Amino acid sequence: MSSSFTRIPGFCPDCGSILPSLQNKGGVTCYSCSRIFSEDAEEVFGTSKVKYTIVFNSREAKKKNIKEDKRQKTNEVQEEGPVVERKCPKCGNDKMSYATLQLRSADEGQTVFYTCTKCKYKESENS
Ligand SMILES: [Zn+2]
Ligand SMILES: [Zn+2]
Repeated sequence: MSSSFTRIPGFCPDCGSILPSLQNKGGVTCYSCSRIFSEDAEEVFGTSKVKYTIVFNSREAKKKNIKEDKRQKTNEVQEEGPVVERKCPKCGNDKMSYATLQLRSADEGQTVFYTCTKCKYKESENS
């Protein structure tokens, strides 16, 4: 058995529990069913188990990417709100998009954020 696989934790073929990392010498003992594996146990530390680990990781990574995509889209919607006719005090453009934000309680009203569609200048106004 080559040393490149000896530190990868395997799964117990008896109960499916993840096994502790294999030390340099000796085998490992399953925490759940107390089965003892030798350091070169092919069924636990063989290449097929390594492949399984890689597949599992890439699936997790995909999930994470989907989550990040969603977050970016949400931000975009808030930035590019409905466009109203409003003169930008900076560049004189007469169109600005707006987004509203409710602050703390309803009594305090909401703040409207305007963003110039041309130069992206931002200003806010309390209503
Ligand atoms: Zn076990
Ligand atoms: Zn502007």
